Amino acid sequence: MAENKCSTCNVEGCKSRGKPEADQVCLDHIKNKLVILSGKGGVGKSTVSANIAIALAEAGNKVGLLDVDVHGPSIPRIMGLKGQKAKVKPPWLIPVKWSENLKVISLGFLLPDDDEAVIWRGPVKGGLIKQFIEEVAWGNLDYLVVDCPPGTGDEPLSVLQILGNDAKAVIVTTPQAVSIDDVRRSITFCNKVGNKVVGIVENMSGFVCPKCGEAVDIFGSGTGERLAKETEVPFLGSIPISKDIAQSGDMGKALTGLPDEHPVKKALKEIVSKI
Ligand code: ADP
Repeated sequence: MAENKCSTCNVEGCKSRGKPEADQVCLDHIKNKLVILSGKGGVGKSTVSANIAIALAEAGNKVGLLDVDVHGPSIPRIMGLKGQKAKVKPPWLIPVKWSENLKVISLGFLLPDDDEAVIWRGPVKGGLIKQFIEEVAWGNLDYLVVDCPPGTGDEPLSVLQILGNDAKAVIVTTPQAVSIDDVRRSITFCNKVGNKVVGIVENMSGFVCPKCGEAVDIFGSGTGERLAKETEVPFLGSIPISKDIAQSGDMGKALTGLPDEHPVKKALKEIVSKI
């Protein structure tokens, strides 16, 4: 075998150099690539990405969570990793370990100051996204979960193009009509670039009053499911509005602190089982 050919992926130039368990491997060592997309910001894409990654890792999979949201990297806060710095072993970025099974990389780990605003022009952002996807020392992974920038512009396009057509998309939306219009665009976007959509997650779907138990559809509910039927894309499930999500996210615990019978945890479990 040529010195720079790897026995696992057979890709010329793969840095594992014939050691299948090496950290510095190419994208072909990642069995499943899941890209979490949304039409707009603020719908809970990062929250869903973080909790899908945690649930997959807790089920025994080797998982990488990649935060490519270059303008608003919120994964470090949600995962309780704010203030951590990623080590660099040129050209490799060394991800931060969240648990034995879950490693995380985010632009937030590279900025000198957490409050730094990222003002980069397109080509620089494109270069960063490429580096983030191709030069992280993940090792062998069962799943790479990518928290993608919102919308259907240059950044998500770069992410999908660099990851390749075997990456599959999960689209997160809220039930309002404005969000739903964006989902249609996201589905068309995936179809055009040739990436399969695993399904739609409806977040912030209804609210159950913790005092009286009455269910109130603040933003509506069921719209995601109807759209899934109309577009023939699987519906993965809905997550209710819950103050526990917002609090756990702000406190950096993701949903790990919530009991298994919590409605949000149950909803996520069902979503992950369908993925
Ligand atoms: P995005 O990545 O789409 O911009 P985030 O995941 O950062 O969205 O979520 C935006 C805010 O909404 C965060 O403060 C998060 O804690 C909160 N949030 C997300 N989903 C829910 C939910 N189901 N109930 C209550 N708050 C939520």
